[in-house]
Amino acid sequence: MVLRMVPGPTSMSAAVRQAYAEEVGSPDVETEEFFSDYFVLEATFQRLLNFSGSIVIGSGEGMVCLWGALNSVLSPGDTVLCVVNGIFGEGFAGMAKDMKANVICVHSDWTQGIDPNTVIAAIKEHNPRLVTLVHCETPSGVKSIEALLMLELGIVNPLDGIGKAIREYTTDGLFLVDFVSSSFGVVLNVDEELIDLGLFAPQKVLSGPCALACTTVTERAWERIRELKYQGYDALLPFDGLSPSSPLLLPYTHNWPAIRATMAAANAIETEGKEAVIARHAAVAQFCREEAVRLGLELYCQIIEHASPTVTALKVPTDKLSWEVMEKELKAEGLICGGSYGSLYGNVFRIGHMGTQANGSLVKEALDIIARVIASHT
Ligand SMILES: *Cc1c(COP(=O)(O)O)cnc(C)c1O
Repeated sequence: MVLRMVPGPTSMSAAVRQAYAEEVGSPDVETEEFFSDYFVLEATFQRLLNFSGSIVIGSGEGMVCLWGALNSVLSPGDTVLCVVNGIFGEGFAGMAKDMKANVICVHSDWTQGIDPNTVIAAIKEHNPRLVTLVHCETPSGVKSIEALLMLELGIVNPLDGIGKAIREYTTDGLFLVDFVSSSFGVVLNVDEELIDLGLFAPQKVLSGPCALACTTVTERAWERIRELKYQGYDALLPFDGLSPSSPLLLPYTHNWPAIRATMAAANAIETEGKEAVIARHAAVAQFCREEAVRLGLELYCQIIEHASPTVTALKVPTDKLSWEVMEKELKAEGLICGGSYGSLYGNVFRIGHMGTQANGSLVKEALDIIARVIASHT
């Protein structure tokens, strides 16, 4: 038995795997049947995320919604404010630069969440057309987009008042939040936070397949999307106005099995209750941090209130063993967890406790293996 505790893709339950394997038809031919599933899933997401606007569920894995959102709302020369305290924040800045936007970065210490007041001051100063923020960050020192890797370092950025400030102090600024690795595992009210573009994917807390790119879109964001008319595989525009009463047309054959599997995954969350799921993540994360410290490990995130309920980053005890040795020995003991990259490579490793992996006994089992491997080097 291999125990996988990586911060995504997370392990799919038997029910989700079964739904993934069900025979489905062609979404282009059995259009009504396909869209009936699509709209059920959209409605479930709206309830789970507290969002009253439309949610685009596109084909492609999570990165597609990052590119799709930026391509759909940015024009060359637009001022974009990127909040950077990790690799994905840096990634957004890089992507926006590639799109010839005028990029302004608000930096903060990578071991801490951002201070919303600093972001609000920058919003007032620069009047951006877009503000990007990564809710649960994923640091590494790697700068190129090609090297973007899913390295949740377990730091949740507070959103307090940023959406409101954008509406108050900018001409037509939009608020983009990447909540891929936090959504469903933390309290998140997309309507209340005034998030115009909220990005998520099924392979993290939902423990669904690595095959869909999802975006919550407000009417303000749709206006910009219609104005820009960006077309491409990742474009949001073809989903504009999609409803049971509109012509049901998409520019590609959608991934129906992935929709079915994600429906099963989202249903599991609704059945357990979204508050109960959030409470389970908080409890398991706290247990993970306390147990890790009890075993003599050191936490990467410096401020507990900013620590993510979905992943815990720990320092490699490099005085005892290197990450290369540790990783190999953990694998030999049946444990796979996440390493790190760039400037953090070799110094930080991560336990993903999201979705099906937000389970105290799995976390305990993983930490016991880690402690045993480290002890054999002292
Ligand atoms: C996982 C993740 C993504 C999407 O990456 P994938 O390639 O779909 O796994 C985007 N942003 C963040 C913060 C993530 O954690």
